[in-house]
Amino acid sequence: MAASVASFGASKDPAPDLFKSEAEALEQARSTLAQTHADAQVYRQSLSELASHYERLMRETRRLIGRSDRAEREMNALNAQLQTLARQLEYRATHDALTGVLNRGAIIEMTTQALLRTGAVMIVLDIDHFKHVNDEFGHPAGDAVIQGIVDCLRRIVGEHAAIGRVGGEEFTVLIPGGQLEEGLTLAEAMRQAIADHVFGHPVDRCITASFGVSANPTGTRFDDAYGLADTALYHAKRAGRNRVEVAD
Ligand code: GH3
Ligand code: MG
Ligand code: MG
Repeated sequence: MAASVASFGASKDPAPDLFKSEAEALEQARSTLAQTHADAQVYRQSLSELASHYERLMRETRRLIGRSDRAEREMNALNAQLQTLARQLEYRATHDALTGVLNRGAIIEMTTQALLRTGAVMIVLDIDHFKHVNDEFGHPAGDAVIQGIVDCLRRIVGEHAAIGRVGGEEFTVLIPGGQLEEGLTLAEAMRQAIADHVFGHPVDRCITASFGVSANPTGTRFDDAYGLADTALYHAKRAGRNRVEVAD
């Protein structure tokens, strides 16, 4: 078999006839078949050559099918890996690495969409005197406090609200389509949960946070909704911290 099936795809020559020797054997068999009175030995010889080509074709075909099955399995595995990586990439692009809540970009995007579609309650919260924690216990202990605060928020915030980290120690909780009463109740529950929590070593004490709430009808711009909640937060700080204030 001069141009064997084994050379499938390997040759760079323009369109070689991969089945040249098989075609010749077939042609030979046909011409033998046409000789109606040939010697039995001639028929036998032709049949034997045809059989050996046929066997070889079957072997090569099996080998190619095996190779193609392996390639398909490898491709499926690579495809699954690619999808996992894409999901990881998407997660990292939208989530905060320290706490796992939505990052600034993602919560702003989600809030903007919610304001457009249904309106939303925005709650902003900021840890009280957090700089002291860093100064007293160091940055890693400060990081652990931020994670502890998020654990408290997660315990209170259900499925119907989203948590985002908008700045270092400042968070936003979004209730799409929510009403003011609902926002105030949720903010108060979060405030209480944080105030009741004793943070672990080396902090070993309670830490509080202040909250500002705004209830925003459909069509409110993000900056306006955020500005209102932030002003309310500022009032909560001015009024002594560890409080929930609502935007006028
Ligand atoms: P206030 O009650 O008025 O909010 O006082 P504060 O001390 O919390 O406010 P301030 O804005 O002065 O300090 C916030 C500090 O948070 C300053 C900054 O170093 C710290 N911080 C911001 N991001 C991180 C972080 O990711 N990890 C740690 N450990 N500290 C952070
Ligand atoms: Mg702050
Ligand atoms: Mg603060």
